[in-house]
Amino acid sequence: MKKIDREETNWGVAPLSIKKKIPLIFCLLVFLILLTNNAFHYFRSKNQLLDYNEKVVTMIVKEVSFQVKNTKNSSLYVEDILGRDLRTASLAIKQALPARYQDITNEQLVALAKETGVSHITLLAKTSDDIVGVKSSDPHEIGMGTKGWGYWYDAYQQLFSLEPVSVGKGITLPYYWSGPIEVASSNPDHIDKWGYYFDGSTNYIINPYFRDKITEYEKRFGPSKIIQDFTKEEGILELTVFNPKNFGKKDEVVHLNGNKYIRISAQPIWYGTYAFRNYTTDARLIKKAIQTKQMESYRDTINDKMIMKTFVPVYSKNDQPFVIGLVYNYGLIHAELVHELKVHILLSIMIMIIVLIISFLFSRSITRPIGYIVEQVNEIAQGNFGKNLELRRKDELGLLTKNVNAMSNRLRSYVEDLNQSRELIEYQAYHDPLTGLLNRRYFQEKLLLFVEQADKAGEKVSVLFIDMDRFKQVNDSLGHNKGDEILKVVSQRIKDCFPDDVNTIITRQGGDEFIILLKNSTFTETIEAAEGLVNHLKKPYSLNDKEIYLSASCGISLYPDHTQNIDTLIIYSDLAMYAAKKAGGNKVTVYSDKLNQSNINRPRIEARLRNAIENEKIEVFYQPKINVKSGAILGAEALVRWTDEEFGFVSPEVFIPIAEDTGLIQPLWEHVMKLACQQVSKWNSKRSHPLSISVNFSARQFQEPSSMVQHVKEILSKSKLLPEYLEIEITESILLNNSAEIVSSLETLQQIGISVSIDDFGTGYSSLSYLKDLPINTLKIDKSFIQNIDKDYGNSEIPEAIINLARSLHLNVIAEGVEEEFQKEFLLSRNCVQMQGYLFSKPLSKEEFEQYLLKK
Ligand code: C2E
Ligand code: MG
Ligand code: MG
Repeated sequence: MKKIDREETNWGVAPLSIKKKIPLIFCLLVFLILLTNNAFHYFRSKNQLLDYNEKVVTMIVKEVSFQVKNTKNSSLYVEDILGRDLRTASLAIKQALPARYQDITNEQLVALAKETGVSHITLLAKTSDDIVGVKSSDPHEIGMGTKGWGYWYDAYQQLFSLEPVSVGKGITLPYYWSGPIEVASSNPDHIDKWGYYFDGSTNYIINPYFRDKITEYEKRFGPSKIIQDFTKEEGILELTVFNPKNFGKKDEVVHLNGNKYIRISAQPIWYGTYAFRNYTTDARLIKKAIQTKQMESYRDTINDKMIMKTFVPVYSKNDQPFVIGLVYNYGLIHAELVHELKVHILLSIMIMIIVLIISFLFSRSITRPIGYIVEQVNEIAQGNFGKNLELRRKDELGLLTKNVNAMSNRLRSYVEDLNQSRELIEYQAYHDPLTGLLNRRYFQEKLLLFVEQADKAGEKVSVLFIDMDRFKQVNDSLGHNKGDEILKVVSQRIKDCFPDDVNTIITRQGGDEFIILLKNSTFTETIEAAEGLVNHLKKPYSLNDKEIYLSASCGISLYPDHTQNIDTLIIYSDLAMYAAKKAGGNKVTVYSDKLNQSNINRPRIEARLRNAIENEKIEVFYQPKINVKSGAILGAEALVRWTDEEFGFVSPEVFIPIAEDTGLIQPLWEHVMKLACQQVSKWNSKRSHPLSISVNFSARQFQEPSSMVQHVKEILSKSKLLPEYLEIEITESILLNNSAEIVSSLETLQQIGISVSIDDFGTGYSSLSYLKDLPINTLKIDKSFIQNIDKDYGNSEIPEAIINLARSLHLNVIAEGVEEEFQKEFLLSRNCVQMQGYLFSKPLSKEEFEQYLLKK
């Protein structure tokens, strides 16, 4: 049974095993879930924080706007009260002062202001073109002109003319007007509330005023406090109440009385601070907020802080709209978000680690048993069956284990059965069923091993080839069953003679042939044993109370003395056995070289020759034919060559007759024809003087002459050789048959241009008279006649006669087997110029022949 390789089954751990894959997939999955969740959570938190922030902003804005509105309203109210208070004070002042200002001192006014509870008192009097502060408790006001004061100046004029003041600002009462709260142009550090009284009883307007009262009020009750409170809260960095009309524009600076200042109504920031400055963006968003009436925000980094600024427009029915700006510390939101993200990531990592551990344990719980099962399956793959797995699981793996066990057990019993039947088959394969001896197959397979073992141990091997004499007669006369019974006895007798089964192999080759191999036996021991066996086999065989007399022939060959080739060794023992038989049987013969020459084993040659033809191991050699007179190479004779692996070089003289007897001559002839014609055609394609080729034809080729002719034509056309360059050599014996069919086929060949030569001429018994009517072109004098010629031309009558005969019949003549110079000379002297023989060249392989052509 073939063992399965590790490589072949590839049970090794896969590069990405399930054990790694499962945790990896789990982790990836969890990672994705966590990532999505974290991202989702981050954005949700952010939105929540921003929402919350917006709510806070709205709340604060509501509060602040309420405060601002409230302050504005209550300021107006307070202002009104102050205005009225100033009128009361004015009446008191009028009572206390003389009618002409020239009679009043500034110090008087200081005392009077204290008495009446106002901050200062100024007296305004007409000059030629102005109304001027003539006396005052406030030195800044003395000499101060009012001509450039706009509606204020108008109001003073109206007062002086005792008309009710109609400027539309402040409070107008009889003989009295109080201007709106404003920055003092004489002293812009202060914000004052002024009252003006004139009833015509004085030459001046009484002008008492409160300084910074409203500022104080606003300080105490205005939005600044709440703004301060809010900015103390975490996150709110700054609150500002913007005047959208003026913020972002050039300051409206007023130049009066040598001072410059901005009017209250024109101030860009009403309340709060503006430390986080970003004028352009803020101005743009404030404008936008007013236009859209929507909250506007943006994020930025100002004063090294991440901030979010929000602008909320506030409208009131009868007052100018304003915008509340809130700066929120966005860094807090950011920090909060980052903190949350960190917590989440940490949590995620922990979850991942837990998932990794759990999935690793889980995958291990799967892969461990799989690994175990794989190991066992591997054992099975290695051919170790029957081992059972112990895996107590109720899942699919448990089932798999059970099935693997069942498979393993079945395989074991299967293999056991198989081994049993294999032993039986092996026995049957290597034993002869009749005698129980080892058979021919065993012999063929184990012979080499046996000899090699002996060789290694330095021992000799003797081969005894035994064949019963005339056993065919026993079979024919007594029947095969009786024959078989005798063969059983024969084999028993052989066994009796060779009890040592360590150094002996006894085989039945079939029929009545037995071969015995003896190891470690000397030559004499072998001969003695063989003779003992032959004597033992000669003893009568009793069959049905009848006594039958038989004998055996035994041939012996020795390894390595006779040959080292094992197949040849057997042939030699076979030859020796034949020789024993030929010598009358009941005999032991030892192989000798002489036997080899005479009595080669024909069936074996036939088998090997058939094989050689099938496998195209047959070659063609070429022997040049020369015109000795001119020195020209006329062509060559194609001679078949066979070198067998077992027999070595086998002469055509030996195998051609066998081929002729067995029909192998037909494929052999075809093979030679094809090779020769193709080869010569190839050579001729490069030659100016084409060569002709002579091919030997056997009698067998003429059994179906017409098909042969057809075949020749086909080969010629296929090899593109012109018929003129083909000559066929036939022996006289073919012509002796002399059937009309053969003659006509030869005629056909001649007609298409092929020439016919009679080979070995002179050895047959052709009648000369007959010869002249035959379709032939050439006589080839047999080499035996040439070789018989003596140096002094003795024994030259036959070749001479043949030469003359050819001449008189107008036939071409050629001599073969020319080995000696004098033979050539003789032939030349008799005007036979065409020759072939070792003197010129032995038959050559195609390569050698090409060299030969080159040399000539
Ligand atoms: P063959 O047709 O008479 O061929 C001449 C034989 O004489 C060849 O023997 C050749 O090698 C040998 N020979 C040539 N020159 C000399 C020489 O100077 N001295 C001696 N002693 N011998 C020489 P080879 O090749 O052994 O062939 C023997 C015979 O076998 C051939 O006699 C021919 O009858 C036959 N044969 C050879 N090849 C074929 C073939 O392809 N088909 C057939 N049917 N018969 C062939
Ligand atoms: Mg020949
Ligand atoms: Mg010949």
